[in-house]
Amino acid sequence: MSDLTGKVAIITGSGRGIGAGIAKTFSESGAKVVITSRHQNECDIVVGEIKKAGHEVFCEVCDVSNEDQVQSLVNDTVKKFGGLHIMVNNAGVFEQKPVDEMDTALWKKVQAVDLDGVFFGTKYAALQMKKKNWGRIINISSVAGLMGFGGSAAYCAAKFGVRGFTKAAAIDLAPYGITVNSICPGLIETKMTEAFTNDPSILQTMEQSFLVKRAGMPKDIANAALYLASEEASYVTGTEIVVDGGWTAHL
Ligand code: NAP
Repeated sequence: MSDLTGKVAIITGSGRGIGAGIAKTFSESGAKVVITSRHQNECDIVVGEIKKAGHEVFCEVCDVSNEDQVQSLVNDTVKKFGGLHIMVNNAGVFEQKPVDEMDTALWKKVQAVDLDGVFFGTKYAALQMKKKNWGRIINISSVAGLMGFGGSAAYCAAKFGVRGFTKAAAIDLAPYGITVNSICPGLIETKMTEAFTNDPSILQTMEQSFLVKRAGMPKDIANAALYLASEEASYVTGTEIVVDGGWTAHL
């Protein structure tokens, strides 16, 4: 199941965390993967691990909030690997500030990475996928795209936006054999959440809200992404998979 042999996948923000987990899972399933973030050093570590396992990989530094860089990333991938089949718009930032204390620069920074970046990645990937009449676009939203969190208005606005954007893009791209879906992770152990997961009292309090009494791991999200990227998910588009250990089951 979920054989990605012959497929080419870009995973943005794959120098660490959830993106690195998705990239390794895709490469283990046969895909040629492109590792990218703003920092070469982190990407190089992931590239080394994938190469060591005997898989094909390519790396390019790219800031997803920069449209030209995203366009170059897609074009360079096609030049290097001959096409693009799967785009995972995963890169994201999490900033906390109560809405009445938030300055415009912080608001714009979050929207630029978490929402504009998803638009740029979807647009330039779709232009390539349309040529082959096949594609999978997977956008990483969040449980913060399903419910509000204090101090997270900018992040929630972006992540709700990603879910809505995904549904509308699915309608536009369905005629070209391209599916567009989002994933809503719950609490996943990465650098982004270390302030929560490294503090036993915060972690324990949060875990009480989960039905599965643990924080998630990048592999939990990678497994969902693998399904959405696969041939088996050809009838799934314009929707989201919530991978949150049941955190939002009471909504
Ligand atoms: P992470 O460990 O902080 O990793 C984020 C990745 O995105 C890094 O590789 C980072 O690398 C990259 N990135 C940040 N800004 C970027 C930019 N402007 N351009 C390109 N790459 C950029 O976070 P994570 O937990 O793996 O998060 C991955 C995604 O999952 C995010 O969209 C996040 O919002 C979402 N998510 C996470 C959780 C969670 O609990 N961890 C829950 C729900 C949703 P550089 O900084 O080097 O560029």
